[in-house]
Amino acid sequence: MDRWIEETFHPHWRVRLEAARVLHEVKTEHQHLVIFENPTWGTVLMLDGVCQLTTSDEFVYHEMMAHVPLMALERPKRVLIIGGGDGGVLREVLKHPAVLKATLCEIDRTVIDTARQYYPSIPGAAFDDARTEVVIGDGRAYVANTDQRFDAIIVDSSEPIGPSAVLHTREFFADCRRALKKGGVLVTQNGLPFLFPAHLRATTSALGQLFKRVAPYLCTQPCYFGGPFALNFATDDKHLLKLDAKHLAKRQKKRGVAELKYWTPEGHVGAFALPAYVRAVVADALSGEQERGEAPAVADGGEAAAAPPSAVEA
Ligand code: SAM
Repeated sequence: MDRWIEETFHPHWRVRLEAARVLHEVKTEHQHLVIFENPTWGTVLMLDGVCQLTTSDEFVYHEMMAHVPLMALERPKRVLIIGGGDGGVLREVLKHPAVLKATLCEIDRTVIDTARQYYPSIPGAAFDDARTEVVIGDGRAYVANTDQRFDAIIVDSSEPIGPSAVLHTREFFADCRRALKKGGVLVTQNGLPFLFPAHLRATTSALGQLFKRVAPYLCTQPCYFGGPFALNFATDDKHLLKLDAKHLAKRQKKRGVAELKYWTPEGHVGAFALPAYVRAVVADALSGEQERGEAPAVADGGEAAAAPPSAVEA
């Protein structure tokens, strides 16, 4: 009889997935890891009872984490990925020909080793690419101590629990800002705004205190049950959020970044158009800055057309 594996993240409801075959299960130094096959979702990775990815829909999250910041940048040469041991974001980052070096700092080597063994289609050849540098260690410590400077830092962390909790703190974001080149971009995963508005509020508020522009954007990740999934985009370069679909399409063509299954130039711009309940969380998060007179009001409809409507100048 098949085993059913439960996602234990939500306090008052549970999702159970049939495990037709458990491929690997271990308590690592950092977390509980299980990889199994499910007839609907394909190969599934769960860490500490939270679904991280499935081979059927991973393209959504990985494309939106990589291509939104990298298409916004004119020449992204140096990229840092924190977490992301499954290799999906790295795979997408390396599609940009301007990338000369991509560093991936992952705390748990087991995630990388089992990704290569049990779902090799996700990393593909990314870990063997000459431009890839893998660092096994805590991402918080890495950004606090690095003397490298990056065009983009992509924080592909798990939820703010366990080893990943430190990757959702203002101190960590401040160190990321220090490690960015002038006009660089920080992108973080920011959870499910419908279920966890406090997560989006806290991160947006922290980023609003550190960066000139903060703009959450959304994607629909089927295996993250609970509505649209939020990512956050922070930079001091206002222009990065003013690119229209025509400009992004030209860039995509020039770079030869093809065969994407989720990211499109129009979807890039549209992802920043937040539903009212999410926009309210963002406005609330930045209201502190407004009180301190550090941030003007959330951009109104007119200007929003040019800049993503959720973009707020800090
Ligand atoms: N998409 C997933 C999500 O949103 O939940 C995240 C996927 S990825 C597998 C998350 C990775 O972050 C895991 O491999 C985990 O080991 C890594 N991680 C957690 N805490 C970390 C830390 N402090 N430093 C570096 N990597 C960390």
